[in-house]
Order: sequence, then C-alpha cells, then structure tokens
Amino acid sequence: MKKVNNTDYNIRNLGECKIRTPVVVNYYTSDSKRLLLQNYLDDRTPQKMKTVKGAGDISSSVEVAGPRENLFFDPSKTKAAIVTCGGLCPGINDVIRAIVMEFYHRYGVRNIIGIKYGFQGLIPSFGHEIVELTPELVENIHREGGSILSSSRGQQNIGEMVDALVRMNVSILFCIGGDGTMRAAERITEEITRRQLSISVIGIPKTIDNDLNFVQKTFGFDTAIAESVKAIACAHIEARGAPMGIGLVKIMGRLSGQIAVGAALAQNDVNFVLVPEVPFRLDGDHGLLKALEARLKERKHCVILVAEGAGQELMRNEKTTLETDASGNIRLLDIGYFLKVRIDEHFRKTGVEINLKYIDPSYMIRSVPASASDCIYCSALGQYAVHAGMAGKTGMLVALMKDEYVHLPIRIVTSGKKIDPEGNLWMRVLESTGQPPTLID
Ligand code: ATP
Ligand code: MG
Repeated sequence: MKKVNNTDYNIRNLGECKIRTPVVVNYYTSDSKRLLLQNYLDDRTPQKMKTVKGAGDISSSVEVAGPRENLFFDPSKTKAAIVTCGGLCPGINDVIRAIVMEFYHRYGVRNIIGIKYGFQGLIPSFGHEIVELTPELVENIHREGGSILSSSRGQQNIGEMVDALVRMNVSILFCIGGDGTMRAAERITEEITRRQLSISVIGIPKTIDNDLNFVQKTFGFDTAIAESVKAIACAHIEARGAPMGIGLVKIMGRLSGQIAVGAALAQNDVNFVLVPEVPFRLDGDHGLLKALEARLKERKHCVILVAEGAGQELMRNEKTTLETDASGNIRLLDIGYFLKVRIDEHFRKTGVEINLKYIDPSYMIRSVPASASDCIYCSALGQYAVHAGMAGKTGMLVALMKDEYVHLPIRIVTSGKKIDPEGNLWMRVLESTGQPPTLID
C-alpha cells in the first residue's frame, strides 16, 4: 500500500468561493471541520495506534462533506456532466438520480448532461449521444438496476476527453466507477490543472467488493449480500435435496472476500467460506477435500461459498498466461468450476457418490436495483458530491468513513482493504460455519 503523508489528505480547490449558496440549511459545513483518522490501540502492535486502513500518522485528518456557505461556481452558469464506467453495481442509477435532483431542486442548476458508454462518450469518434438529465428523466431510475448511461472499458485519450469537456462547457464532471475510473479521473484532473482550466472532477467510488482502503463501505455492497443470501439459500436446499448433496456458490470478490463473509454471516447455512485473504489447499490431511469428507460423513450435505479471487494460486503454474480485459484488468481463473471438477474427481476416486450443484449468481447480483440501505447511501453520496463540486473542489471523491461523509483525494484511495485472518470478522465466520481454522497442512 502506498504510504501517505498528512498533507496528502488535502483537497484541491479551483479557487476562492465568492458566491453565496442558494441552498438554505441550518448548518453549513466549513472546510476546517475535519475527521481524525486515529482509531484504536492495536494489542498486537503495542505502542502503535491502529488507524483507518492506509492512514498516515495519528494527527491525520480529512475534510468532512456537506453544503458550503459559499460556492466557486455560479449555479445559474454551471453545467454538470455524469459518466459511469467499469462493471455494473447496484445503486449507480440512485447516485445519478441524487446528483440530478440535488442540482435541480437545491442549487437551481438546470444544465446536467449524461455521458453515454463510459469515457467513450467523451470521444467524438465513437459518436455516442449526449443525454440531457432532468428530474422527469431520472425520477424512477432507482427502481432499475444497471446504469441508464451504460458503461464501457478500454482506455481513452485524456487530452481528447478534456477537449470534449471544454467544448461542452462542462463545469463539474462526476465520475462513477471503480479503481480504473478513479485512475482516469485523476489523470483528467491533472490535465485540467496543467491547462489551468476551471473544471472540477468529483469521483463516486463504485466497487461491489467493498475493498477500498479508507472507505467504510462502498455502495452496492449491502445489496450484494442480500442477493447472495438468496443464492446460498437455493444452494442449501439443493444440497439437502439429495444424498451427499453439495451446494457450491461462487460469489464476487476479486481481492477481498467481503461479500462472501457478509453473506455467510447473514445466512448460517454455509459450511466453508473460501476467500482470497485466507489461502487453502485441496489435498493433505487438513485440506478442503478431507474436511469436506468429514462434513459429509457427519451431516450428509454441505454448502461451500467461494469468492472469485480465492485460491487463484491453486490453478496457476509457471506456464499460465494471464489474460486481461480491455482496461487491462487481469481475468481471474474460474475457481468455482475448478473446485467443482476437483471435488467430483476426488469423490469419484474414493467411491463416494455425491450430488454437487454449482451456482454462479454474479451477474444476477450486480444488475439488481439497490436495497433500501444502499438507496439511502447512494442518495447521500450524490448529494455530497454536488456540494463538493459546487464549492470548486476537485480531484476528490466522496466516501463514508467512520460514519461520516468525507472528501478524500482520489489518488490515496485504492483497493487494499482486506479481511484480517486473525481479526474478529474472520473469527465470527469460523464460529458460524464450523470450518477448521486452517485448510492447509
Ligand atoms: P470495475 O472495478 O467495475 O472494473 P473500473 O472503473 O475499475 O470498474 P475499468 O474498466 O478498469 O473499470 O476502468 C474504467 C475506465 O477507466 C476504462 O475506460 C479504463 O480504460 C479507464 N482507465 C483505467 N485506468 C486508467 C488510467 N490509468 N488512465 C486512463 N484511463 C484509465
Ligand atoms: Mg476495477
């Protein structure tokens, strides 16, 4: 993880805020209201303050989000643009809706456009239309999953994208997307700064995996757990429906098994949870196959939940070539299918007849509408993003941290939040599944 200094938490501003806000509230948040990152003493590293993941020293603090009394942009002359990139995630439409409603009804900004198909929409040669976003258009979009603006992968030319923003006279660009989108947003911000333009870039981080450092929870995560639970319930019924039934469910989680852990804790039908953070083996006296044998012998059925990023090393050797997608992200090998084949093979060899059902609900999970708690969260993110943009803040994202909405510089937020195999969360998983503390000899 990148080391950050105290000054790295400062948010860039386009200039002085001289315009009185039209937003009437009882309390305006000032830039000097800050949230301390200091957290608690860690007993495993005495003398050391354990801070929010990735934080600098103990006096580190971040800017708190909220409506500012004075604005950089004049609402009557402001034009905003929204772009959504990367994979789908429940709640994207909720964020779009919240941004539009906040601009329209609170700031009186009428000029809001949607960029279609991710960053492609900013490149003229693709010829994608621009969508005018109005309250009428976005009124009901939170009832639908996906993104009304659609998305895309693949790098686009930063200079050309900034040219498009200038041509369209955009004052604030909102980028809703994952790590790749945030990297692009940072580069767009740098190019805008280099050209000395007054365009604000605000990120709303989207990762269903909930694996961002600094960020307490990402939107779509709660929905993903709720939907995963439904798949686990089906797997459990399948497993109990036949002698020696095994329900195997693969769930999202490339670098961190947060969804798998949440779903396993929510639905106590899971017997083995396999996540990227906790290595496991198949063979050997303490490997998964032996533990599975024992479980089947005792209970005659079993549910295994595996995060997509788990056990990747089991499927790779020196000769494996790693494929990437259009954005350069490594394509993970299919641990679910691998486990299905290896488990079938193992029990065939040992002469035990099993009934294994493999369920991969990933695309059904990420495309559903957001749950009520994610709807609340997404509205807040959209509203705070607008407040920040109108105050001329740039190169930043809005996020929830320690139950406060805060402004974080885009460049410090990266994937890195992991489940601690020695922490309480994993311990609760072991307690509620009964799986052995280690699946390695
Ligand atoms: P998800 O986590 O769902 O995959 P993502 O935002 O990481 O979302 P990507 O496809 O990796 O999805 O990236 C989104 C967009 O950002 C793509 O158009 C990608 O090419 C672009 N992008 C990623 N990294 C950079 C970069 N370093 N510079 C410029 N553009 C980038
Ligand atoms: Mg990504």
